[in-house]
Amino acid sequence: MEKISIVVPCYNEEESLFLFYDEICRVSTDMSDQEFEFIFVDDGSKDKTPEKLRNLHQRDSRVRFVSFSRNFGKEAGIFAGLSYATGDYVVVMDSDLQDPPELLKKMFKMIKTEKCDCVATRRDTRKGEPPIRSFFSKIFYKFINKISRTEIVDGARDFRILTKQMKDAILTMGERNRFSKGIFSWVGFDTKWLSYDNVKRVAGNTKWSFWGLLIYGINGIVAFSTMPLVIASIIGIIFFVIAFIMILVIIIKTLIFGDTVVGYPSLVCIIFFLAGIQLFSIGIIGQYLSKVYLETKERPLYIVKSTEKDMDLK
Ligand code: UDP
Ligand code: MG
Repeated sequence: MEKISIVVPCYNEEESLFLFYDEICRVSTDMSDQEFEFIFVDDGSKDKTPEKLRNLHQRDSRVRFVSFSRNFGKEAGIFAGLSYATGDYVVVMDSDLQDPPELLKKMFKMIKTEKCDCVATRRDTRKGEPPIRSFFSKIFYKFINKISRTEIVDGARDFRILTKQMKDAILTMGERNRFSKGIFSWVGFDTKWLSYDNVKRVAGNTKWSFWGLLIYGINGIVAFSTMPLVIASIIGIIFFVIAFIMILVIIIKTLIFGDTVVGYPSLVCIIFFLAGIQLFSIGIIGQYLSKVYLETKERPLYIVKSTEKDMDLK
């Protein structure tokens, strides 16, 4: 019998947890040829999520959980879930039912019949999302795919099923700045894609603010491309050439027409413009430097407060 581990990062999901559990149980009953294990990662929730997880474990021994000592972010949650998973196949999915559990049957069939290492999902539409968010998301994916050699698929969700082999490969990537969409792609292997319509979350609120997404995007770019550094250097060279030509023009003009002091406003504009570009470039370097700084500290990705094992011992 093959075992499927379902990894579910949860942060303040008390409202959707039981709904999710019921759904996933229904699907697991339909897939009775497979053994299941549910690994809920409580990412430092401040609501009743931990209690509810304990309750679920008491009801159903297939339910396992890991509680973090504080909120470490979804990426850390996924990493922890993957390292706790013991199945032959691992599924990552959200607890808000935005990743339809029903789709799991199809995904499992696909990974078995099509002999691939991963079946991932993507949303075709961004229905139900604020237009401004969709707009910036589109630009982000265009940009990052231009400058990164790792393919980052637009609309890709973290909802996917992968083989144990691919999961182990992902776990060897111990970087602190984790950008799952890139990591799944970077490790290689065969990924097949499945599209579905955007689904609204059943309960609770999204954890993403606009700024949160912006910073997530910048982290993704820094994690999977060094092109911004190249762009900064190229801009520097372009301005050097322009400055050189301008110096020549000024020398020749002075020799022909003499020394006249004009051009104060344009000078101010140029100073501001160049200072802006310089600060922008330093900012880019700073982004990479800050990531190097954090990586060298080698802090753990997450800290565990309790797991279901603590309950079993009591
Ligand atoms: N999540 C998490 N830690 C966080 C934020 C979110 O584990 O710091 C979980 C959350 O509980 C949910 C999933 O990640 O199961 C996706 O979060 P959300 O629905 O807020 O994101 P969206 O679907 O809007 O992209
Ligand atoms: Mg969601």
